[in-house]
Amino acid sequence: MKKITFLVLLCTTSLTFVFANTFYVAVDGSDDNAGTKSKPFATVQKAQTVVQPGDTVYIRGGLYAMTEAQVAQTKRGYACVTYLDKSGVAGKYIHYINYPGEVPVFNYTAVKPAGLRVAAFYVTGSYIHLKGFEVTGVQVTISTHTQSECFENHGSNNIYERLSMHDGMAIGFYLLAGSDNLILNCDAYRNWDYFSENGRGGNTDGFGCHPAPGGKNNIFRGCRSWFNSDDGFDLINSSEATTFDHCWAFYNGFNKDFVSEGDGNGFKSGGYGLKKLGNEIPNPVPRNTIMFCLAVRNKANGFYSNHHVGGSNWYNNSAYRNGCNFNMLNRLRDTIQDVPGFDHVLYNNLGFKGGKEVQQLDAAKCTTANNYFDLKLDASESDFMSLDESLLTAPRKPDGSLPDIDFMQLKPGSRFIDKGKDIGFTFKGKAPDLGAFEWSQ
Ligand code: CA
Ligand code: CA
Repeated sequence: MKKITFLVLLCTTSLTFVFANTFYVAVDGSDDNAGTKSKPFATVQKAQTVVQPGDTVYIRGGLYAMTEAQVAQTKRGYACVTYLDKSGVAGKYIHYINYPGEVPVFNYTAVKPAGLRVAAFYVTGSYIHLKGFEVTGVQVTISTHTQSECFENHGSNNIYERLSMHDGMAIGFYLLAGSDNLILNCDAYRNWDYFSENGRGGNTDGFGCHPAPGGKNNIFRGCRSWFNSDDGFDLINSSEATTFDHCWAFYNGFNKDFVSEGDGNGFKSGGYGLKKLGNEIPNPVPRNTIMFCLAVRNKANGFYSNHHVGGSNWYNNSAYRNGCNFNMLNRLRDTIQDVPGFDHVLYNNLGFKGGKEVQQLDAAKCTTANNYFDLKLDASESDFMSLDESLLTAPRKPDGSLPDIDFMQLKPGSRFIDKGKDIGFTFKGKAPDLGAFEWSQ
């Protein structure tokens, strides 16, 4: 008898360690349910109370009309509707993902807490994987300087994947702290705070990454940002370096009717809004990397150094029809004077039809090679397979990666094929091409 009890115990213990649990959230669920497929929970917040590292919460498709009564916590002046503070561990993420083939949409138009900012998902936990759902209609209720967010991250080693943040007044994704986070294949679009301050949505970026000290190695890959009233991707006030890899920014600084609103940069790499001597600047100054990215018709600059006090790395980017395609403007920390950009490294970049092409670049104080301006090659329409901007919002591939489109792909015979410098990335033909898309035929 004793032996049997021991065996049963052993099995139970082993099972606990070997098998992860699966829970369900559904529009017609209840938080009094057990969270099974037939008796799902109503909220992700409830699911968090039962999950352990390695567990998966499947979110069923449909429209989740979020309410103020669901606000889980108030913190730092934010009404955090869903507050995720339970962490997974390395190799055992906690997954909150869409049920395969279904699209959950969380709508926040009814969440208007007086005097509070709104964070639809406020994440302080680590080793969390969020995937495959939409956040829309996030509100701003404060009339003075403020902002709201679809996702605010403070944790580390999190994965934000295939999330769609759109048609609200909030920033899409916003990081203030945490390291080693991956923001993968997400879209932020048509976000505009038309209520606070002057109603121009001057804080409504698609993606903002502003890590505190220690927030290293955050990577944005395969993300798109368009028609956000401020910037597409913004790295102002960062203590650590960030990487943008294969991301697209277009039509930022405009509302969806192309009315001019906020700043309107595609990729804003750094800066501190430094206005007086003695303001604290990180040491070392972070060197951001922007590579294989595409910026199209952003109101101000496609690729912008934003008065940063150091250089960034700009590799294989393509810019088209931005107010200025590449603006490397820097600022001196010792005198707070704006100066042409120094310490930047620019390789293999390509621009066409900018209001201005390259501004504020002190080439003698930067490392530049094989860019279109170094080669003194002016692009023409005949260099490209297509310049049809409507392709930029094409549906993603089934795995969530960016669509394969002809936009700004080089045409056979283009003078930009094989004219790049080998800087260690995979290429086809004799040498890398210029711009974000390697010609493959
Ligand atoms: Ca901004
Ligand atoms: Ca090539």
